[in-house]
Amino acid sequence: MESHERRAIRSRQRRATRATGLKKAPGDLEVVRAFASTVARGQRADELASPGQLARWLVRHGLLDPGVVLVEAQRQIALDLRRGLRALILANSGVDPDPRALERFEEVAAGGRLGLRFEAGAPVGLGPASACFEDGLGTIAAIVLMARLDGRWPRLKLCHAPECGNAFFDVGPNLTGKWCTTRCGERYRAAARRQRR
Ligand SMILES: [Zn+2]
Repeated sequence: MESHERRAIRSRQRRATRATGLKKAPGDLEVVRAFASTVARGQRADELASPGQLARWLVRHGLLDPGVVLVEAQRQIALDLRRGLRALILANSGVDPDPRALERFEEVAAGGRLGLRFEAGAPVGLGPASACFEDGLGTIAAIVLMARLDGRWPRLKLCHAPECGNAFFDVGPNLTGKWCTTRCGERYRAAARRQRR
């Protein structure tokens, strides 16, 4: 993808963070956080509810060439990756991941071909070998691997507030964050108070 498009995406992300207070992830990990957060929650529908929606999401995040048409079988593969990804993120809060979800995550990840990215002044990174569907999904798994190696990974969490499926980046010193926004924090505490009564 051209660099001005990347810059446009980053500036959109910054504006969205300011607008919602959502705790976004640094660097390329943000695309992983966003992908994990596409699930249906409360009144909001699944952002990947059709092959067309999935294709638009991937194009918007630089993981698929515009104009590529996806089919339902490919959407099911993406949902398998998302399920495994969410299981892995939940493990950061001490929940044992479903082994079947992880196995499928590995299978989907293995279907993508990756290339090395050398940019001046930046660490060597991994990127999709091409902008086809399989390589785009494989890139999501590769970013997880990179984040595990560089120490960012344990900070990725799933929000504990009711009816919120968002993933968020926990910036707290003790890794005890439980919600994605201040608003979710209020809802989480209100739900906890109701449970104690
Ligand atoms: Zn939340």
